[in-house]
Amino acid sequence: MERKCKVESASITYEYGTGLYINMTNQCPNNCNFCLRKNSSGSLYAENLWYQGKEPSKEEIWAELAGRELNRYTEIVFCGYGEPACRWDDMMWLCDQLRAHGSHFIRINTNGLAELITGKRASLELDGRVDAVSISLNASTPEKYDKLCHSKFGLEAFPAILRFTAGAVLNVPHVRMTVVSTMPKEEIDACRKVCESVGADFYIREYISK
Ligand code: SF4
Repeated sequence: MERKCKVESASITYEYGTGLYINMTNQCPNNCNFCLRKNSSGSLYAENLWYQGKEPSKEEIWAELAGRELNRYTEIVFCGYGEPACRWDDMMWLCDQLRAHGSHFIRINTNGLAELITGKRASLELDGRVDAVSISLNASTPEKYDKLCHSKFGLEAFPAILRFTAGAVLNVPHVRMTVVSTMPKEEIDACRKVCESVGADFYIREYISK
């Protein structure tokens, strides 16, 4: 039976399939048209992912993880009801804890804006810490991305995502960029070319509205 640790009722971790997902944060520099946070307090997989007030510290997240049988899961996935890179240093610390306590497959699901969020070459810090990175591409040009995702970084967002992805490809065994299946075929094809230009794998994911 699933066990949930609560901070103000929000799930810090939740199970999906054979993986364990970590709800790192509710912060995000984007305001995507399709963000499921606009209409819901959770997802298909966890009832509530909104932290009321303070988000859990890295130590509280680690205590939650350490209380689980981590070897049961095929992967441990950093994500968020928000963008996990907003807590980049905490996430790297947690990766180190996981590495020190077993051989877990570690993935990060991200919007790829880590270098603008942190102001550093964040992709270099993935080396040895992370097995896979999944980056939402969402659009094929800076203008289309801006129209869809309304990043606070404006037109700088898209090239920064590509720089981060290219860096991740050099430091992480499995790197993919994703788009949703509901996009027009021509835009999916254009995104595929962008993805190939930075050396990442391309993945078309199902759109989840809740
Ligand atoms: S990047 Fe993700 S969390 Fe942030 S607004 Fe877009 S869909 Fe929502």
